[in-house]
Amino acid sequence: MIAVMKSLKTIAAARRWRKGLEKKVVLVPTMGALHHGHEALIRHARKLAGTDGEVVVSIFVNPTQFGPKEDFNAYPRPLAKDLAVCKRAGADAVFLPRVDEMYASDASVTVAESNLSETLCGRSRPGHFGGVCTVVAKLFLATQPTHAVFGEKDWQQLATLRRMVRDLNFPIAIEPFPTVREPDGLAASSRNAYLTPAERTLAPRIHAAMAEASKLKSPRAIMKSCTAAIGKIPGARIDYIEAVDASTLRSLSNRKTAGRLAVAVFLGKARLIDNIPLPSIP
Ligand code: AMP
Repeated sequence: MIAVMKSLKTIAAARRWRKGLEKKVVLVPTMGALHHGHEALIRHARKLAGTDGEVVVSIFVNPTQFGPKEDFNAYPRPLAKDLAVCKRAGADAVFLPRVDEMYASDASVTVAESNLSETLCGRSRPGHFGGVCTVVAKLFLATQPTHAVFGEKDWQQLATLRRMVRDLNFPIAIEPFPTVREPDGLAASSRNAYLTPAERTLAPRIHAAMAEASKLKSPRAIMKSCTAAIGKIPGARIDYIEAVDASTLRSLSNRKTAGRLAVAVFLGKARLIDNIPLPSIP
């Protein structure tokens, strides 16, 4: 028998689906416009759930994590293609709520994180991580997963959501998944579609600069080298380039703890983010 992927459009439908499932339920939250990075996350969720468990993918372009000048309306929404990706990657259900299903027009309660979300992207995108925490908390309450998969591509998001789960005692295991890249090193992202062909050929130089810089020892030298190399990419505007502690996201002063080299760079209309590990040096 060929299993049919369930399409859950309301919170009530998601709860009905969830009710009585005494097995692993693995959630993969997404905003759609699914690429091969998302597909790898869903396949990972399938493995985690096993043949017994259930995989649910949420597709919801969350307005509360977009700033007033950001691309909420323009964000791509290729639903039919997304559903095909979910199905072939092994999802059992997709949760597809409308904005008015998720948010009352006078909604006034939100989830705020006040430490990890203040740095890096949080500085240039005020309110973004509050929106992410709020929507993920709501997705958790709607689908009640035992596990949820998030990409390391969005390292600050992953760290912030781990903190939310710890501090609000969600009974959910957060499962990280490594960044999926294009063959030339560029991190796969829905926003790569905003690059012109010329920008697309320049974009891999961001990851190349990061990889080269990460061979250096001191965090300060790493940041300096990376800034110089990315500064040479025609048209690139640096938002930030920082070496941070992998868990606290504070500036890394030495290599005694595990770090992360994190960057955000504007290239044309696209704001590209990436991060790579800076392993501790004994
Ligand atoms: P998004 O729809 O872009 O918000 O992403 C949904 C999930 O996919 C998040 O957990 C992201 O971190 C993850 N993701 C997006 N791009 C990648 C990638 N290139 N590699 C790994 N995970 C990714």
